[in-house]
Amino acid sequence: MPQKTRLTDTIYDWSPAVLPSLSQQFEGRRPDELLRAALAAFGPDLVLATGFGPSGVVLMHMLAHLSPETPVFYLQTDLLFPETLAVRDELAARLGLKFIEIHCGLSLTEQAAAHGPDLWQRNPDLCCHLRKVSPLRQFLADKAAWVTGLRRDQSTARAQTPLLAWDMVNGLVKLNPLVAWSEADVWGYIAVHHLPYNVLHDQGYPSLGCIPCTRSVAEGQDVRAGRWVGWNKTECGIHLQPEVASRTTSS
Ligand code: SF4
Repeated sequence: MPQKTRLTDTIYDWSPAVLPSLSQQFEGRRPDELLRAALAAFGPDLVLATGFGPSGVVLMHMLAHLSPETPVFYLQTDLLFPETLAVRDELAARLGLKFIEIHCGLSLTEQAAAHGPDLWQRNPDLCCHLRKVSPLRQFLADKAAWVTGLRRDQSTARAQTPLLAWDMVNGLVKLNPLVAWSEADVWGYIAVHHLPYNVLHDQGYPSLGCIPCTRSVAEGQDVRAGRWVGWNKTECGIHLQPEVASRTTSS
């Protein structure tokens, strides 16, 4: 099991008003430097969100060395690929992390009874809201900061993502330490450290979500092109800003 390492002696101001300048301050620096600073400031009130994608694997490895007790959570929608759950278990064994499963409290049967069968085929925004956005909001309500694996190269919608910002929807600091990394940077890190990853990434699935809303993509396509195919939807809603979120959930 990795040992906890010294964090940082520098005290940073994480107030919402100064986060843009702090974000600029960390641009060009290593992701683990930002993680060290955030862990020193927020301790156990900092949490990592993951869908067990390659960026999440990198961040879990970094956190396992810096502060292995950091809570790592994922959204259990009851529709995840078995391969995703397999890599979850591999990561838990390899990195010594304990994952927190966040569930909306609504079984698929209950959802079908309330909203009709296969809601994702008729109203994926509502389905994502029920199974992802709402439970995430509840979980983050008493946290101080959350870390995500968002990267600017993942899609045009994510191209302007800041390194860190105040999350107005959930009311806490949001850190995206790998925002400037490329797909190649992430896979290079995984190869160097011999980290486990979802085997579906080798079968044409660069981005994985729920089974009904994920397709394989052709060589050269946008990495998120296989998500919600046939819908004008590129995000589940957990990473949308308020004005965009309200547009999406009402459509
Ligand atoms: Fe529902 Fe699809 Fe969203 Fe999963 S990704 S919560 S199945 S709409």
